[in-house]
Amino acid sequence: MSIKGLCVLGSTGSIGVSTLDVVSRHPDRYRVVALTANNNIDRLFEQCQQFLPAFAVVIDADQAISLRQRLLDGGNKTTEVLSGVKALEEVSVLSAVDSVMAAIVGAAGLLPALAAARAGKTVLLANKEALVMSGPLFMAAVAESGAALLPIDSEHNAIFQCMPAHYRAGRTAMEVRRILLTASGGPFLRKSIEALHDVTPEQAVAHPNWVMGRKISVDSATMMNKGLELIEACLLFQIPPEKVQVVIHPQSVIHSMVDYVDGTVLAQMGNPDMRIPIAHAMAWPERFDSGAEPLDLFGIQRLDFEAPDFERFPCLQRAYDAVTEGETMPAILNAANEVAVGSFLEGGIRFTAIPDVIKHCMDSVAVIKAHDIPEVLEADSKSREAAAAYIARLQS
Ligand code: NAD
Ligand code: MG
Repeated sequence: MSIKGLCVLGSTGSIGVSTLDVVSRHPDRYRVVALTANNNIDRLFEQCQQFLPAFAVVIDADQAISLRQRLLDGGNKTTEVLSGVKALEEVSVLSAVDSVMAAIVGAAGLLPALAAARAGKTVLLANKEALVMSGPLFMAAVAESGAALLPIDSEHNAIFQCMPAHYRAGRTAMEVRRILLTASGGPFLRKSIEALHDVTPEQAVAHPNWVMGRKISVDSATMMNKGLELIEACLLFQIPPEKVQVVIHPQSVIHSMVDYVDGTVLAQMGNPDMRIPIAHAMAWPERFDSGAEPLDLFGIQRLDFEAPDFERFPCLQRAYDAVTEGETMPAILNAANEVAVGSFLEGGIRFTAIPDVIKHCMDSVAVIKAHDIPEVLEADSKSREAAAAYIARLQS
């Protein structure tokens, strides 16, 4: 069996670290060719020393100079350090790279993930914002190049695993009646609207079941994460939004389900440990050890299900509206959400203002046909401007 070359975009983040943990268990299957990071250069340095990639990319040129020196001082003559956003695309399409783990958070991850898809690499997609923004354009790039697209998001990985044998992302499975997209409900599942008004960033990032980056943790608290995942599911599995049912399942043991026309419902279960979907996608179509603990059903005892509350979590409704409208609306929603979450994390706006910012942008930024990526990026930047202006008015 040949060893596959791996590029990890966003290697210092939560998904990046879990990916490298899986890689370290399978040196006979994967070799790290490139690692990239925007911050936490100390961690990137340690990763370079452990995995000796051919390339390391940092965005800031000064940080690249200091990392280069530290690696040389540490005796690492293997790793070449590159800087700038263009370098993210360059390392994603290297001939030595077979698979690209797209684990940058937010819109910043779009261009390198798309470059990997266009180059026909196996794309391990964690960066849901990239797909939400570019939608059908991203899926067309995958179809054109023949790239394999494997979902890392635990729900989508679960759905993929419950799809018919030999299923490939981007196709419609006619025998599927519905997708049941599970959601933990996040840290504020039982909080009243009044109580949500005063929640702090620290409370919002404390997810009950998963340890994740700060942005996705806030998205889980507003349930925008499930909204983005709804859009992601419609694109990956080519299914209309009315056939995707969000199901609150607080234990996060079932990671999603597929309901077939004959009444069969297949569920994928496992501990809430991202190394499981990562290992699944990396070993696919085989399987290998992820390092996750076996599931203890006697410890879990019960599985609960309930319908989502659209009133307390309006972000979910915004996502249904955006995917129904299509074109550049999901990009507008995503950009507004990124700006609003960033501001909330810095103490700029209240938690309950996040859906208001998104609604304002969806109501005020013109939706156009998304013919190409520059149009998507234009919608993204217009929405960011509208969100920033709205937030400034809230603060004045
Ligand atoms: P994180 O914040 O922990 O890590 C993000 C990574 O991206 C870091 O390496 C960071 O340096 C890099 N990065 C951030 N901004 C960048 C920029 N402007 N340019 C280049 N690199 C940049 O995030 P995470 O929790 O690992 O999530 C990564 C992606 O995976 C997100 O899209 C998230 O929605 C998705 N995801 C995460 C989880 C999870 O459990 N953490 C689960 C499902 C999906
Ligand atoms: Mg998820």
